[in-house]
Amino acid sequence: MALKIAVVPGDGIGPEVLAEGCALLRDLDRTLDLGLVFDEKDWGAERWLKDKVGMPKGALEQLEREVAAVYFGALGDPRIPDMAHGREILLGMRQGLDLYANFRPCKCLHESLSPLKGKGPREIDMLVFRENTEDLYVALGGTFKQGTVDEVAQDISINTRKGVERILRHGFDTARARPRHDGMKKLTMTDKHNAVRFGGGLWKRTFDLVKGDYPDVVAEHLYVDVLAMEMVRKPERFHVVVANNLFGDILTDLGAALMGGLGLAASGNIHPGKIGMFEPVHGSAPDIAGKGVANPLAAFWTASLLLDFLATKDATLAPRLLRAARAVDAAVSACVAAGPRTPDLGGSARTKDVGDFVRAHVGSTLAA
Ligand code: ATP
Repeated sequence: MALKIAVVPGDGIGPEVLAEGCALLRDLDRTLDLGLVFDEKDWGAERWLKDKVGMPKGALEQLEREVAAVYFGALGDPRIPDMAHGREILLGMRQGLDLYANFRPCKCLHESLSPLKGKGPREIDMLVFRENTEDLYVALGGTFKQGTVDEVAQDISINTRKGVERILRHGFDTARARPRHDGMKKLTMTDKHNAVRFGGGLWKRTFDLVKGDYPDVVAEHLYVDVLAMEMVRKPERFHVVVANNLFGDILTDLGAALMGGLGLAASGNIHPGKIGMFEPVHGSAPDIAGKGVANPLAAFWTASLLLDFLATKDATLAPRLLRAARAVDAAVSACVAAGPRTPDLGGSARTKDVGDFVRAHVGSTLAA
């Protein structure tokens, strides 16, 4: 069976890093016969400016029908300050495809990348899940007397039992199936139910209910302010962390900083069992776009997450897809340890130098 990947390079450095990521995926496909088929989309600022189309009509249905996963670059363009195209495309996919589980590995690959004294790869190794379809991001609310001194603004946070339960169960399933390097199987749920009573209360009650089904996973609850402090003070406490949309948004950026910055951070947005959309955490970085210096490591790591996801969709291909993913992980680690580094990681290498190193490393791993 062919596994079709929709490729959405987008804007700014998106196309630069995805070109490297796709070249790597094509190499892997040739070497391991993974059955990958690429379907490149021109969704982004240029098309929006030309004909005001973000995602063409019928695109979501086509993705649902034909595509196993989406490989996404970045959206953002100074000519569209309100990011209208980004909202239509990115939020369109998240909501339209019900990609409820956003996850980001927060794993430090090398001592030299850690901003924390005495904490490195052994201590900083967690997976943060962010609920991706509810909370304050549903665009419900409004303003009253806008533009006057009496203006009132309201954003509504939506939390549903179904939404909370499914992200928690996915987090517990992951903690159980993929223990940390040291064997730790633990899930930390975070909320703020002492102050945010109703939504927070629903999260806490659902957590207390669901954890009973996972006696082999240590289940811990922390208020989000305490969790933020502990992620910096004692990151080795954490394996899987689950948070709502807003807290998850903030905590995952903290996580990106712990692992060495945006040039490395990868993410997935998935509906387990259905489709997944995989993107580097960074944006379009207009300040460096077109200069050939963007770090492609986040895009490579993202490709590895995508391969892992594809392995859940095809049992026959799974061993080869997983072998490919592990070869990419090894190459990314080798690159930060002893390979070329782009300026964001303190080096002077170019995007292409890092790409060439990673592809060569993957090639020799698979040939061994
Ligand atoms: P957007 O509006 O698309 O979010 P942004 O510039 O506000 O763009 P990011 O794109 O995430 O946000 O970039 C934040 C900073 O990190 C910028 O200075 C950018 O150059 C840097 N940066 C982000 N990604 C990378 C990368 N892959 N390689 C090197 N630097 C990066």
